[in-house]
Amino acid sequence: MDYRRTYVRDLFALAPGTDTSAYGWVKTRRDSKGLSFVQLSDGSCFKDLQVIFNEGVVPADILKQITTGACLRIDGTIVESPAAGQSVELLATSVELYGAADPVTYPLQKKGASFEYLREIAHLRGRGNTFGAVYRVRNRAAYATHTFFQKRGFQYIHTPIITASDAEGAGAMFAVSTKLEAHDGKYKLTSHDPSEDFFGKPAFLTVSGQLEAETLAMGLTNVYTFGPTFRAENSSTSRHLAEFWMIEPEMAFCDLAGDMNLAEEFLKEVIGDIMENCGDDLAFFNQRIEPQLLETLGHVVNSPFERLTYTEAIKLLEQGGEKFEYPIHWGADLQSEHERWLTEVKVGRPVILTDYPKEIKAFYMRANEDGKTVRAMDVLAPRIGEIIGGSQREERLDVLEARILEMGLPLEAYWWYLDLRRYGSAPHAGFGLGFERLLLYVTGMKNIRDVIPYHRTPGHAEF
Ligand code: ATP
Ligand code: MN
Repeated sequence: MDYRRTYVRDLFALAPGTDTSAYGWVKTRRDSKGLSFVQLSDGSCFKDLQVIFNEGVVPADILKQITTGACLRIDGTIVESPAAGQSVELLATSVELYGAADPVTYPLQKKGASFEYLREIAHLRGRGNTFGAVYRVRNRAAYATHTFFQKRGFQYIHTPIITASDAEGAGAMFAVSTKLEAHDGKYKLTSHDPSEDFFGKPAFLTVSGQLEAETLAMGLTNVYTFGPTFRAENSSTSRHLAEFWMIEPEMAFCDLAGDMNLAEEFLKEVIGDIMENCGDDLAFFNQRIEPQLLETLGHVVNSPFERLTYTEAIKLLEQGGEKFEYPIHWGADLQSEHERWLTEVKVGRPVILTDYPKEIKAFYMRANEDGKTVRAMDVLAPRIGEIIGGSQREERLDVLEARILEMGLPLEAYWWYLDLRRYGSAPHAGFGLGFERLLLYVTGMKNIRDVIPYHRTPGHAEF
């Protein structure tokens, strides 16, 4: 057996009369008038292959085991299909059963199982229609991401996952230590002194690769990261994971306008690529998960994003006459309900908000002349709110130092970050895009736990 084989995807293109083999898992089987019809899937495409078993072709004891979930190879001949919606099917001549799946206990039996239930059997859900489609779209989105940046000369860099600088300040962190041991279901701390720990100081899982990406942009010009990111936020929302994947481009010689242009081009190009290459999967999401998905995505690809300053957005929100759970005023951070009102009710497509109050944004964002706002930008999308957060970075040493002190942060911790401003500083900008937020948007799935194979959320890390 060799990895080289004809995927189900490619079997559809074979001429009738061709002898071939199909490998995969049984989705369903039904019998009629001595014939058996099996829907076979290998995950290579949305469509299942229909396989026909004439009476007597397969020994009765084997046929009995060809039930939902069973894994097999079928040798046969491609024939024209009389059934609607498929060009060809496979007429079986023999079968090798690799693994049966007892119909009494196989957990992925029932049609219409809830997503909550499927999360409990995440190790099997990839065999079904919805999750097969989610994972194929996820794969294509990753591929399109690399293509997008590589085409533009960005260099793919890898920033560390473990970091001893708690300087990023983007969210609550998970500690990394070898001094914590688990015995008999209890924790034991074998040292209270960080200097005795593995890294000689407190270490954490990264919340963002941005600061490190900035160091490489100051030398390689345009770079991007695409890797796992961790936040110990104890919130169980449908938009937050404790472990998620983030795409972070960082560009030297770029300002906020350039940053927004890149973000908009990125979303349009990646969504366009997925529409072109995952048509069957998106048609399924459109039909079963989110009505009007295709229309919305087409609209995103073809119309310019609305650009507003934070101050303008606050005015719209105040004058909109909508009752919000969290009252809105200048200086307040936007809640998801505000983001959704702006994108869904007011504008009807993605919105880029800029120039937020400095108090609600990170220390590294470039200060505006008004002394009150910074060159931040968030891309907000209908249905999910914030999908991208970015900014032009503060490249002036004195301004950055003053800002760090003003926020009560220790200057020493940022010595290497400040060095970038000390030696050969340049205007630069970048953003962070949550890969799973993008997938929520593209698939129409409602819960972020359902667009990653194994979700990490409070209380959930088993598999
Ligand atoms: P939010 O306000 O939505 O919690 P944030 O402002 O904390 O997000 P940033 O620090 O700006 O997020 O991170 C950049 C991007 O990473 C966000 O725009 C979002 O797409 C994504 N992101 C942030 N936190 C999470 C999370 N816990 N799970 C999944 N994606 C996330
Ligand atoms: Mn943000």
